[in-house]
Amino acid sequence: MTFWRLSSPDPSVCPRCQKVPWQKLTNPKYNEKGPIMMLPESHEQLKSSNCRICRLLADTKTPSLDGKDCELRLTPALYHLCKPKWSTDIRDSSNLIIVSYNPESPIQVSRPGQVFKYGFQRIDPDTVSFQKLQECVLYCHQNHADICTRPTLAPASRFRVIDCNHSKQIVVSAPMACKYAALSYVWGSNPHGILLGNKYSQVVIDAIKVTISMKLRYLWVDRHCINQNDEADKSYQISQMGNIYANAEITIIAAAGTDPTYGLPGISRPRKQQSSEVINGVIILGGLPHPGDQLKESAWASRGWTYQEGFLSPRRLIFTDYEVSYLCDATCLAEHYKIPIDMILESSIYSCQPFMLPQFKDPWSIDEDNISIVHQVIMEYSRRQLGYPADALRAMSGVIQLLELKGIVFIWGVAIYERVPMIYWYHNHPTKRRPNFPSWSFLGWDGPIEVRRYMTRREEVPFKVSLGDRENLIFDINLIAATKLKGLGENAPRYLHLTGFVVDLPLENIQQTEPVQNLGRKIIYHHTAVSVRDTAPCSGVYASLKICPGLRILAKADIDESNFTTCPVVGFLLASSPEPVYLFHESISRADFLLLRHNGTYYERIGYLSWRLKLPLGSTQIYLTYDYRYPVYFIVSDDVSDEITIPDKRPLWLEEAEKKTVVVG
Ligand SMILES: [Zn+2]
Ligand SMILES: [Zn+2]
Repeated sequence: MTFWRLSSPDPSVCPRCQKVPWQKLTNPKYNEKGPIMMLPESHEQLKSSNCRICRLLADTKTPSLDGKDCELRLTPALYHLCKPKWSTDIRDSSNLIIVSYNPESPIQVSRPGQVFKYGFQRIDPDTVSFQKLQECVLYCHQNHADICTRPTLAPASRFRVIDCNHSKQIVVSAPMACKYAALSYVWGSNPHGILLGNKYSQVVIDAIKVTISMKLRYLWVDRHCINQNDEADKSYQISQMGNIYANAEITIIAAAGTDPTYGLPGISRPRKQQSSEVINGVIILGGLPHPGDQLKESAWASRGWTYQEGFLSPRRLIFTDYEVSYLCDATCLAEHYKIPIDMILESSIYSCQPFMLPQFKDPWSIDEDNISIVHQVIMEYSRRQLGYPADALRAMSGVIQLLELKGIVFIWGVAIYERVPMIYWYHNHPTKRRPNFPSWSFLGWDGPIEVRRYMTRREEVPFKVSLGDRENLIFDINLIAATKLKGLGENAPRYLHLTGFVVDLPLENIQQTEPVQNLGRKIIYHHTAVSVRDTAPCSGVYASLKICPGLRILAKADIDESNFTTCPVVGFLLASSPEPVYLFHESISRADFLLLRHNGTYYERIGYLSWRLKLPLGSTQIYLTYDYRYPVYFIVSDDVSDEITIPDKRPLWLEEAEKKTVVVG
């Protein structure tokens, strides 16, 4: 039997945290493979704990880990951050604890005066280590020439920069081939306010200091380097923005605060204090979120214009309330990592990927994989908010410019793949229309889209598409060279002429109601009788599709408009499988439609409908509703008494479909 006595327990530490052998954990030779403690509590529970150690752990056990089994383990935390060839070195150098599932935000334990060669370090709230950042930039130039350059975008011409060495820091014409920093920041809720006067805002004053500290002379800031009052110059300079960011030596990202008055933490305002506690003579240093997670929380990451600024910049210095992180396309090094840049694992950039130029499949070709990366780019951009909805295309023009150089053609922001514009997307939630843009483009709507993934695999497309004005075709996509569409911007034709199957699709706005009484009735299909379950569709807008007399299905539609009212709608068949669609021809049947409404002159998109139905043949235990996003409901009409036989032929909705051309704007 073992006896032990706790030496006067600390009332601010819970028994669980008391029990941990903290002193032992700081010994580099101590080897404990099992969990140090279990952490079943949620972030909120830990945060409101009476125990100061538990509160510190809350910083690392973020809300995203709620409900997951987490535990503290003793691991050299750099094990998760370093290239494998360094890991033995790391194992000898520091003992750290991490919370499972969050190895990128470890907690460090040490004795006073104990120094690790590698590990994590406390952030000085007031001082940024520019030497370390300069080393990162140098390392990038020497080692990442193939990844972190934008050779496809020519250096910007005829642009202005702030001369940071000048006593008055005036704006000058950029000297030939000059090295410069660019600033990426949020203009704030009052974009006009910032145009008054020429005084530099706090973020610009701070960025000038950063530029000088990074041993650069010139700084580019849109507000000051673009003449906001000269429309011709403004539009020329905006067309150059892609080149300006792509060729900047560094881009300073102001990812703290919500407007230019906030400035850069670490320059004109202190950073947040890292949490730290002492227990039994051991210092516990709290973890910081990964730079990618810090960015995700920022106002900077929510804005439209900043998307291409981060995307096109080869090297970024990210200023948050926690620290300054270095991010290029090959490496991410947070300020709190005490680790040289050449040791860091390539996957350190993983959490930052939404903000970077994506890594396309190599060797480059326009194929499904690379097109689906383009869709990721578009989905991320569609999440962003714009002060002026009319900027929607301009604010991504640099992204388009770069991708067009890779041979991808865009029209109104929509990529064209195998001669079909990628109009296969939907809104998860209704949103608002942006009238400056065609309704078939995601730019025509102010809200995040999802692209139908399987659609990138080209099944047989049952329609033809051309571009034109309302009356006339201008381009037959099947005939023209893709280069003709390049760089058309807002001069591109804005109407799609779609030729294919058009179906009347009555929509029903169903609020949660009584179950549909299918009770006791059967569907006979392929000599198999199937009971129809009672169904109570959840609230939403449903399209009704006739299968055969007496039987229809209700499939939930994704409506684009938040102020949607039921109206006559047609569905344009975009894809179906198998083709032609025999509802029960095979075990899986599915179809995708653009939902269109006629506005008197042409059609406008109002939503998207895709349903998928699975019927395992030969089984008597068939679920008639099959869910992949939404269930499909079977409705038997009242005049059917007990059973209904589905004929082995095309469903009625397809029989009644009309093949014609619709003009969608
Ligand atoms: Zn505790
Ligand atoms: Zn690099």
